[in-house]
Amino acid sequence: MTFKTWAIRMGVAASMTALSVSALAQNNFDDVKITTQKLTDTVYVLFGAGGNIGVSVGEDGVFIIDDQFAPLTERIKAAIAELSDQPIRFAINTHFHGDHTGGNENLGKEGTVIVAHDNVRVRMSQSAFNRTFNRRSEAKPKAALPVVTFNDRASLHLNGDTARMHHVRRAHTDGDSIVEFEKDNVLHMGDTFFVGRFPFIDVDSGGTIDGVIGSTKTAIAIADDNTQVIPGHGPVTDREGLRAYLKMLEDSRDRVAKLKADGKTLDEIRAAKPLADYEETITGGGADWTNAYIGFVFNSL
Ligand SMILES: [Zn+2]
Repeated sequence: MTFKTWAIRMGVAASMTALSVSALAQNNFDDVKITTQKLTDTVYVLFGAGGNIGVSVGEDGVFIIDDQFAPLTERIKAAIAELSDQPIRFAINTHFHGDHTGGNENLGKEGTVIVAHDNVRVRMSQSAFNRTFNRRSEAKPKAALPVVTFNDRASLHLNGDTARMHHVRRAHTDGDSIVEFEKDNVLHMGDTFFVGRFPFIDVDSGGTIDGVIGSTKTAIAIADDNTQVIPGHGPVTDREGLRAYLKMLEDSRDRVAKLKADGKTLDEIRAAKPLADYEETITGGGADWTNAYIGFVFNSL
């Protein structure tokens, strides 16, 4: 898989421009299949292209966490129809990126209520330029915008459980939430957590390495031995997966910070391969993506 194809499918690209508008326009996601994994009697995760989708089904209806790309909405609805004959009442957005909110407009027009942190609505309402990827994203239409927003926490009381949205400050962006299913013991991390690849930290949208470290610590504090953890991208894991991720994040921060304090430039730090040990097992996107990640860490210190 080329880096470009990988980036599109993994959602990194929704934010990259060299790839974004034209590449996504050419990419109809025709070959993308939505697959379903059952986590509990009422909570599922859907995989396709873009961010992993959390699904709650039960006596009160359906709500979802994130909704991937617009061309996939019908396939996502078909996958959910296998689980429930109810409509999608709510869609929580973990953050504003297009690979997590691309289905909002389709769902919003059908009456789904979009819920997110205040800054998700702010960022989706504006066009913006991202220097990291030399990308401009346009303001989204009204139907795509969250209509319920919150500044710190909010909860949905549905399907016999409480889904708590915890805003985590300046992590992957400045509008991230992690979602905790209290009774079902499931955590959806949005893009504060990537499994199998180094994380994208959207520094131009308020993201920081220290915020990602903070959100990971928050999640570890919420989790217990049996918690099932859904990352923004990659397979479902657990608290041990979060702990391994935290160690990688802290090592990244400390190693890059030391080299930066020694006066090294970003190019010199990349050439020094400070994450070579982690690259043996964290391989998604290859060396190009490792270097991009080192840049996110460097630019947010
Ligand atoms: Zn994202």
